[in-house]
Amino acid sequence: MLISKIDRQVADPSAAADTQVMNRLDFEVVCPNNHNQKVTLSEAEFENALKSDALVFHCNTCEANWPPSSEEIANFRKQFSKNSG
Ligand SMILES: [Zn+2]
Repeated sequence: MLISKIDRQVADPSAAADTQVMNRLDFEVVCPNNHNQKVTLSEAEFENALKSDALVFHCNTCEANWPPSSEEIANFRKQFSKNSG
């Protein structure tokens, strides 16, 4: 698996949060029981949740909770970088 590190400036997270929270993206995720769910996250919310290990998806259909796979995390990052670039 090739994941290149994104060279980015580290901004003050509190300053960045205001603008990035407006930049929410919709993602399609599939729960362990194959229900499609839509999650809406900003990049700041995503990175903060990842950092604190709090990123867990919830399925409204079967009430399952599950953590994102590393593939999903990579995909989220790709979408965020597309959106901001
Ligand atoms: Zn489900």
